[in-house]
Formats: sequence, structure tokens, C-alpha cells
Amino acid sequence: MSLQKEEATILLADMNSFYASVERAHNPALQGKPVLVCGDPERRHGIILAASQEAKAYGIKTAMTVGEALALCPEAQCVLPRMALYLEISWKIQQIARTFSPLVEPYSVDELFIDTAGTEKMGTSAEEVAHRFRQRLREELNIPCSIGMSHNKFLAKMACDIEAKKSSQGIAFWRKEDIEKKLHPLPIRKMFMIGSRMERHFRNMGLLTIGDVAHYPVYYLTKRFGLRGEIYHHLAWGRDASPVLPQSLENPKGIGHSITLPRDYHQLEDIETVLLELTDQVCSRARRLQKAGRTLSLSLRSYDLTRGFHRQFSLPAPTNLSEQAFRAVKMLLHRHWNGLPVRSVSVGLDNLVDDEILQQELFVDRAQQDRLHRVIDSVRERFGTTAILRGCSLTTAGVAKDRARKIGGHEA
Ligand SMILES: [Mg+2]
Repeated sequence: MSLQKEEATILLADMNSFYASVERAHNPALQGKPVLVCGDPERRHGIILAASQEAKAYGIKTAMTVGEALALCPEAQCVLPRMALYLEISWKIQQIARTFSPLVEPYSVDELFIDTAGTEKMGTSAEEVAHRFRQRLREELNIPCSIGMSHNKFLAKMACDIEAKKSSQGIAFWRKEDIEKKLHPLPIRKMFMIGSRMERHFRNMGLLTIGDVAHYPVYYLTKRFGLRGEIYHHLAWGRDASPVLPQSLENPKGIGHSITLPRDYHQLEDIETVLLELTDQVCSRARRLQKAGRTLSLSLRSYDLTRGFHRQFSLPAPTNLSEQAFRAVKMLLHRHWNGLPVRSVSVGLDNLVDDEILQQELFVDRAQQDRLHRVIDSVRERFGTTAILRGCSLTTAGVAKDRARKIGGHEA
């Protein structure tokens, strides 16, 4: 039972300067010009959401103010963002990807994973898929992209961010030997999913590079960071078992979080602990979005995803409170889990409604609970979440919204 399938090849495609590229593709007058997609071009304090390659050549970066950007390049063309158009193009990109493989996972509005396992049987290598996919995006949508390839999602993402975006071919393939050659020398902040808070923790422990984390005894990492510590250890060695999960985009009404565990979990209590953390993340996200949901869903799967179950349970009323939601999730676990070793876990909250509606029918203790949760959330926001979550999936629309809000989410 190895952590990774060496033969499988996963692609991470990241659209270059996505919003600016879409604008350029839809307005020939912008061809070859420095293009800025700005929150509000009229205000010099408005922020740059995306800059074309030509604009970047002037040193303009995402999240700069319009004033700063125009100081660097006065002739830059500012355009207002058109989110609906970007989402439509994002959807078309996914459709093209699905003609190569059914295993396509949209990761954000301008990034997606493609698992090419199986395409070899049809006489197409993963590299060919990468080249053809890039070519089709250019020809059909006039959108440039960079592609990272490897035998798992984490390495594909790293290959893309570290190498493909900077290479003239726009494609980088990381193999096993690249883990020590290319991954280990990188500073920790370059590691996918490491925030500045984790970077600080590692720095305080004297760990500066990804290689330092790899060689640090996993026992101490686990002791200090729990399950997360173990996951970081595996990632630092380029091990990532999380599968490319084809997502249906037709179900835009839910919030979900999932995690692939670093090893099989056999104990009920261990699984409950993971579920509590996931449920708490889902509820915390719902509260942030001011949503509440009636239906809780739980999926547990074996390491090869062939066994497991997906079940849901509807509460009498919508909730976004972790305890309430966890009671339902725990009930589903107790009712349906038959002792199967668990490798992949996901929790979802569906049938969402605005939680303002709920505010009107609050009981006293619910109001108290609610306040308590919001305090916890605000503390988390300040000090960072304990989240270990991977493949955190809202919906494409939701992710896009989220992405748009945290500008600077995509760099190239
Ligand atoms: Mg991008």
C-alpha cells in the first residue's frame, strides 16, 4: 500500500494572468498592450486584480494600487473586472480538459488538475496531453497557461509554480529525483499550502528549507503539530496521496472540506477527531459566508477510493454551529462505518440558506453559542486556523468568489 502511484501522471494547469488574458482575448485592441484589470480604475487606491505579461514587465504586480501601477507604466490600459465572463471561460477550459480525461478537478477559477491515468491506453502520453491542452486553449480561447506535471498533485503544483511559470515552454515535469534536487533546496514559504504562520513556526525550529522539514524527525513534527506535522513530513518528501476528484459543477449549493490522510485510520476515535476538525472548518466557513445548511454529508473512502460510502442526513433546521453539525456527522459515522480502513474523508454542508433568516428565530442559548463561535472565528482569523485541509472545495462559483476577494491569489 504505497502512498503514491508512480505510474500515474497528474497535470496542474494554471492560466497565466487569467483575467487580463481573458480581457485581451475579447478585445483585439488590447493585444500586446500592458493590460490591468482593476477593482476601480477611477480611484487611484483601487487595486490591481490582474496584470498582463506586458504590464508585469514594468514591475507591476497583483494587489498593487492603480496609482502605483500607473506610476510604473502610465500607458497601461485599465479595465473593469467581468467576473461572469471569467467564470464562463473557466468553465470552457474545464470542458476542454474533460475531452482528455474524465478526471478533472477545478482547483480555482484559473487552475485545474487533470489525472491522465488511462490516457496512455489510448496512445496518449501525459506530456502529449499537456502540449495538446495548452495548444487548444491558445487556439480556441486565446488563453495561455503553464502546466506542472508529476506523479501527484502536490508535486504537479510545485512543478508549475516553481518551474513551468518561468520556463519558455510553459511545461515542467517533476520526477522522483527532482524531490531532492528541486524541492528540498526551496525556502519553506514556497511550499504549497504553507502559510506565513507555519513558516514562522518552522523558522523558530530552525527549519528554513523544505529539505530541513523533510529531514526533521517526523516524531517531533507530529508531537508539535499533530496530524498536520505528519502531512508536512510527507509533502516535504514529495508524497501526496490525495486523488484528483472530478467535481460536478452543477451543484453550487454546498460547502465541503476533504482530507486525504497520510496513512489508514482504523480507530473510531481517530476518525472522529478528523471529522470534528473538518466539520468545524465547514461550519466556520459557512459562518464567514453567513450561510447555514440543513443537510450534512459524510464520505469515507479506502486508500484506492474503491471502497467506502457517502451518506447524508438532514436536520430539522439549518445550522452552522459546529457541535450541532458534528452530532449529525458522528451519527452518520456510527451508523454506516463498518471498520473499513479510512484514507480519505470529506464532510459537506448543503441546502444552504442565508443565516440572517436564522438570526430572527434565535433561542437564547443559540445566540450565546453563536457569539462564542464568532469569537473563536475571529481569534482564528488573527492567529490562523489549525486547518490541515486539502482539496477544500466550496463550489467553482464559490471558489471563484473567494479567489476574487483574496486578490493576489494567482500570480501568473
Ligand atoms: Mg494563474
